[in-house]
This record gives sequence, C-alpha cells and structure tokens, in this order.
Amino acid sequence: MALTFDYGQRHRIELERAAAVATHYGAEQLVVRLDASAWGGSALTDNSLSVPDSGSTDGIPVTYVPARNSIFLAVALGVAEARDLDAIWIGVNALDYSGYPDCRPEFIDAFRGVAATGQKRGVEGNPIEIRTPLISLTKAQIVELGIAERAPLHMTWSCYRGGDQPCGSCDACVLRARGFAEAGTIDPSLGVPLNTAGTDLPGTNLSQTDPNQTDPA
Ligand SMILES: [Zn+2]
Repeated sequence: MALTFDYGQRHRIELERAAAVATHYGAEQLVVRLDASAWGGSALTDNSLSVPDSGSTDGIPVTYVPARNSIFLAVALGVAEARDLDAIWIGVNALDYSGYPDCRPEFIDAFRGVAATGQKRGVEGNPIEIRTPLISLTKAQIVELGIAERAPLHMTWSCYRGGDQPCGSCDACVLRARGFAEAGTIDPSLGVPLNTAGTDLPGTNLSQTDPNQTDPA
C-alpha cells in the first residue's frame, strides 16, 4: 500500500506524482487528508511564509513542518495495524538533509518504542516495524539505488515551491540536483533523457533555473 498525506502542502504537484508512482507499481494508494495549514508554522503549509533559497538560513529551516513525521508515522502505525501490515517504509534521510530533527535515527528509534508500547500488536509482542532504507545514504547513493532498482525517478517530485516545474533554488531542489550531479547522471524529472554516460553534467539542473524566479506566495 502506498500512503500519501495531503497535509496542505503548497507543492500540490507532489500529490499527483505520488499517485503516478503508486499506479506505476500497481499499489493501492491511500490518501490521508490532514490539513497542517490549519495551524501553520511552516513555509510549506503557511502561505504567509515564503520558501527560502537553499543556504539562506542557519539551523533548522522554515520549511520544517512542526511534527510532520511524528504525525505521518502515527497515522501509518494506525493504518498498518488496521490493515494487518507488518512494516512501514519511510524515506527519511539523515545525511544530506536540511536539518530536520524528525529525519534522524534517534527519532525513528523513539517511534519504534511507540509502536512497541502503544499498540495492541506491540504489547502482544509483534510490533509493526519501521524501516528506513535511505536514512544513512547520501543523495548520490539514493539516486544510484533508484536507478539500479529501476525506480520511476522521472515521476518523483522534490521542490518545495508550488510551480509547474522545480524552482532549482530551494533546499529540496539544490540537494536533489547535487545528488544527481554527484551520481553522474541527469535528473529525468526535468525532462532530459537519462544520461548513463554521465558526461555533460554538474549543474545542469541549476542552469535551467531562472535566478529571478520568485516564490508565487
Ligand atoms: Zn525548488
């Protein structure tokens, strides 16, 4: 099952792409609506805040969504228990990340404790597993893994801004571009054929960006 959260994110295209990926794999998709824009506090859910360019802020950026992965995992534990599923797979990444505390191993371990103590299955000795296959990989290693597994990378979306095309300058775009560049290949989501030869690269993604592009908010 593919679990998707419509949490009021400004990058609505993420929802379309999630549906495409689920269809690609023939997976049932469950879309849970949980509107975090009702309380805001993040540039991803509050239109009065703009998404900063990458590197323009110190510490945990304003794109952090308060307790997002706590909320996602809590719901996922409920879905898994209700559907009698044995594991949750979540793509958090603690290496090339933006500083979000809910992408770190300590956080995931704490949630494993929640699964073990707060659910019927857990107290009966069969807790739902939380698996994080990407947590200690670099973005380049994630790209390489995706290519090796023939994942539909061209369907995936990372940009935090709500445009039709990735902005190229937010944290998500910059980290993604760096990953593809370091892996020596082109990001197929940008409409360029996958270049397995890895010749004409680094910076290709960023060069497509209009530096004057402004946040639509
Ligand atoms: Zn972006």
